[in-house]
Amino acid sequence: MKFQQVYFVVDDSFRLLWIGGEWDESALANGGSDARSNEVLSTSLLSHITDEPTRRATQAMAEAVQDTQTALRIDYRCDSPTLKRRYLMTIQPMKDNRVLFVHDLRDAQTFPVTFSQWRHQPGADALKCSFCCSVSLPDTDWTPPEVLAGPHPDVVDFTLCPDCEARITEAVSALRDGRKPGVSTTSGYGPEGTAS
Ligand SMILES: [Zn+2]
Repeated sequence: MKFQQVYFVVDDSFRLLWIGGEWDESALANGGSDARSNEVLSTSLLSHITDEPTRRATQAMAEAVQDTQTALRIDYRCDSPTLKRRYLMTIQPMKDNRVLFVHDLRDAQTFPVTFSQWRHQPGADALKCSFCCSVSLPDTDWTPPEVLAGPHPDVVDFTLCPDCEARITEAVSALRDGRKPGVSTTSGYGPEGTAS
């Protein structure tokens, strides 16, 4: 099992001020960004996120952390064609309204069968959730890739599935309401192995 971590600091306009860890290989931006860290410094974090729902969710989470000065942790899944990978994202407040994002690889399992590499294409028939990796084909429910009836679609339009959208909304509300959010986990992963 290979662990990896990427962390970065943004200012209150989401400009990347500092990057550490393995940005180049990171799961950020749906695995779609091949930008190198020295080229992305002082660009907007949001410009590296492929789809609008994920961009909006990232912004909502970071703004809740800034406003409440409380850390938010949320579990998400970002696979490669060979690996089912679970990450923990921690968003932490810093001084001057800056925010630190830490993405930690928590678990990686090899798929029994390697998928072909998918790529993002806006408007594609197949949707893929950037937070749990589930796929929605026309007229089918959201399905984790490992239990798809057919092959993984080659082109997908990244978005957030309704479950993940709800989970993120709940994590943001919990933070803003002062409830202890704990770690919000994706379906298919139990609470074991997550930090408390
Ligand atoms: Zn999802």
